[in-house]
Amino acid sequence: MSNVMLKFISLDQHQPDKRPAEERSQDFLETYRRFSDEQAKTQASRCSQCGVPFCSTKCPLSNYIPDWLKLTAENRLDEAYALSSETNSFPEICGRICPQDRLCEGSCVIEPGFKSVTIGAVEAYITDHAFEQGLVKPVVPVKELLPSVGIVGAGPCGMAAAVVLRQKGYQVHIYDRYDRAGGLLTYGIPTFKLEKSIVTRRQKWLEESGVVFHFNTNISDKSGEGTIAFSDLRQRHDAVFIATGVYQRKEVKLLGTQLNGVVQALDYLMNSQQESGPSASMNAKGKNVVVVGGGDTAMDCLRTAIRQGAKSVKCLYRRDKANMPGSMREVKNAEEEGVEFIWQAAPEAFIGAEHVEAIRALRTELGLPDAGGRQSVKIIDNSQFTLPADMVIKALGFDPEPLSELWGDPTLQTSRSGAISVDRKNFMTSIEGVFAGGDIVRGASLVVWAVRDGQDAALQIAQWLSKK
Ligand code: FAD
Ligand code: SF4
Ligand code: SF4
Repeated sequence: MSNVMLKFISLDQHQPDKRPAEERSQDFLETYRRFSDEQAKTQASRCSQCGVPFCSTKCPLSNYIPDWLKLTAENRLDEAYALSSETNSFPEICGRICPQDRLCEGSCVIEPGFKSVTIGAVEAYITDHAFEQGLVKPVVPVKELLPSVGIVGAGPCGMAAAVVLRQKGYQVHIYDRYDRAGGLLTYGIPTFKLEKSIVTRRQKWLEESGVVFHFNTNISDKSGEGTIAFSDLRQRHDAVFIATGVYQRKEVKLLGTQLNGVVQALDYLMNSQQESGPSASMNAKGKNVVVVGGGDTAMDCLRTAIRQGAKSVKCLYRRDKANMPGSMREVKNAEEEGVEFIWQAAPEAFIGAEHVEAIRALRTELGLPDAGGRQSVKIIDNSQFTLPADMVIKALGFDPEPLSELWGDPTLQTSRSGAISVDRKNFMTSIEGVFAGGDIVRGASLVVWAVRDGQDAALQIAQWLSKK
């Protein structure tokens, strides 16, 4: 076969088409259209098949990127799917929502002379195509094993662990306080980034693979209706895996935080995803909305407010565009949809009698970069200015909930930040047989890292169980 690869010289990069901003800002459907069969093949053929693929090195899952790109370009899609799913339990999800510009695609060596290979979109295409062709079969272990594992949290970390444990033959039960699987994939990340049907499809697949879900079940310090005590959970299972994510909202201690109309980002996003539609107090329709923060959560709130029909949507961020923690692709999408960014400005107070009416902010200047490379922030004296605001959304990040306190077990050790402490080699917590991974260990991170932790931890759990 003639070489179908290395076409980056003659073929331009083509990310999946974006629906026009005027169209997509009127609905909650996915922003990007899917690759056609032809687009996926031709775009995959742009890869230069590097001997040392930096794209894979930068992928948290060390995906076999050049190999499945080649198989796609050669139209060997069954093999591409088999290889892609070897390292990633949910390629169609990561392919959609990884910040590729900071990970695989950001390290593609054909840049800057040529634009990177569209790795994420091809990855999503391969598994979407496999689902459509009926190639994604439920997991059937070689041998069923008796020991069972109780997983707390049906987010990407818990679900990824479940896949590997079922492959090994263990009995897997996932407990979640919500009524559906997915964690933040379902209740945080908006549908214009990830349609819920993609997550539901995986939930169904896991059920068919023998994973037992216990929804509306909160792990707590005592048992009762809808709750199971942590101690009882440990009795039920041979091993426990904690993958509960981080949900304690960070706060700013500013005047007026208690005013009506000043809301938390995750509360706002979860409310907007209710089947019955958003409640009046959380609906941005007709309001002047200001979002405080510059991460992915802030971008999701800004773009949701646009879709709800806000009168104006502004983002207040204390650093500049170059120092933003959020994905540049998302910043661009937000700008196209009509979001106004106010760089280098920090809130000083929320103003209003009972309901917020305005936000008073201060200008900032940037100092030297810190150890992580981000520039420090200094407030400029007497630089106050006021913005009208009927709704202020605080998107300032999340901390872990104090689990050892909530679960009534002080032997479950946590770090100063509240994250669960684990032995990095085997994911075991301070309690023998109890393991943990994902955001509750790392702090707020990314889906792809949660998947990695779930997969790696499951291998360690399996090893520990087999020795036991
Ligand atoms: P989670 O997804 O948080 O899942 C934890 C699960 O545990 C939840 O279902 C919760 O209900 C359950 N749980 C918690 N406590 C209990 C309990 N006591 N009993 C029973 N169940 C419990 N990452 C990206 O890679 N790309 C993005 O575009 C992106 N966008 C984001 C947008 C928003 C708004 C937010 C908030 C985060 C975003 N992230 C993004 C980050 C990503 O969602 C998380 O890093 C990832 O979901 C962490 O996975 P996890 O499984 O550790 O936790
Ligand atoms: Fe890129 Fe994420 Fe896929 Fe890895 S998992 S190849 S980082 S899109
Ligand atoms: Fe292909 Fe780019 Fe990866 Fe090289 S770095 S193997 S060109 S995708």
